[in-house]
Amino acid sequence: MNIIVCIKQVPDTTEIRFDPETNTMIRAGVPATINPFDKFSLEAAVQLKEKYGGTVTAVTMGPEPAVQSLREAYSLGADRMVLVTDRIFGGSDTYSTGYILSRAIRLLGDFDLIVCGKQATDGDTAQVGPEIAEQLDLPQLTYASQIQIEDGSVIVKRELEDCFELTQAPLPALVTVGKSVIEPRLPNVMRKLKANRMQPLCISSADLPELDTGRIGLTGSPTKVSKTFVPTMKKNTVMLYETKAEETVGQLLAELDSRKIDLAGGFGND
Ligand code: FAD
Repeated sequence: MNIIVCIKQVPDTTEIRFDPETNTMIRAGVPATINPFDKFSLEAAVQLKEKYGGTVTAVTMGPEPAVQSLREAYSLGADRMVLVTDRIFGGSDTYSTGYILSRAIRLLGDFDLIVCGKQATDGDTAQVGPEIAEQLDLPQLTYASQIQIEDGSVIVKRELEDCFELTQAPLPALVTVGKSVIEPRLPNVMRKLKANRMQPLCISSADLPELDTGRIGLTGSPTKVSKTFVPTMKKNTVMLYETKAEETVGQLLAELDSRKIDLAGGFGND
């Protein structure tokens, strides 16, 4: 089985900042890690390889530092590392990201399965996996918690809001993985050391001559972000009454009344 695992490097922080000029995420100087859902999909892919043989290729699109995520993927069992990188890819929205990744995957040759995370913890759209499937005209099976291969088909247990669903599709196919029942393994120290000496296969726009540059980057992306902002937290006022209980109740009721809060009937003027 030749399995492609799409891995996104995401900020390892909850404090995501945006450039107000370009409305894009500021990634410089922010510690990064593999998107947590991609660790589940990688583990699922490595287990399939261990069962059926073949190779696991970790692919990421991003600037040069994203190679760290590929090295981490290698230490977790991937066999090949592919970095899709080019300045003209910068600013791509989910549609353009899916388009570029699909063209890079096509360049890598035959594959049986593509696995992606369900969603990324920063962008959070859950769009890239399905978009790659669309671009490559593949069946897509989303929100998988278990993946099995049988007679040239992939069988997936999908984790939906109130039930599980078993779905089957012929290979090649694309699967997106949610919080799998499989716990990702710990990195292997020897592989970690080896990965640090390895260089990924790099794919740039020069390797993808058929790429329509009108569909990539900030200008080619159909999504236009008009404004980004970080919501400000409203501070709640705390009132302390340091009086006797029966007086406090009276003060509190007066305060609620002055704010037009009717305890019996709810809030507001009407
Ligand atoms: P999801 O769709 O939630 O991810 C699902 C899965 O897809 C992941 O688990 C992973 O398996 C796969 N995947 C997603 N992204 C990648 C990737 N890069 N490589 C490999 N696999 C991947 N981001 C920037 O960094 N710089 C920018 O300048 C920038 N500009 C943007 C401009 C616009 C108008 C918009 C809308 C977005 C911009 N983004 C930018 C965000 C960027 O589009 C997303 O980070 C990216 O498309 C992935 O979307 P997502 O995070 O929602 O991933």
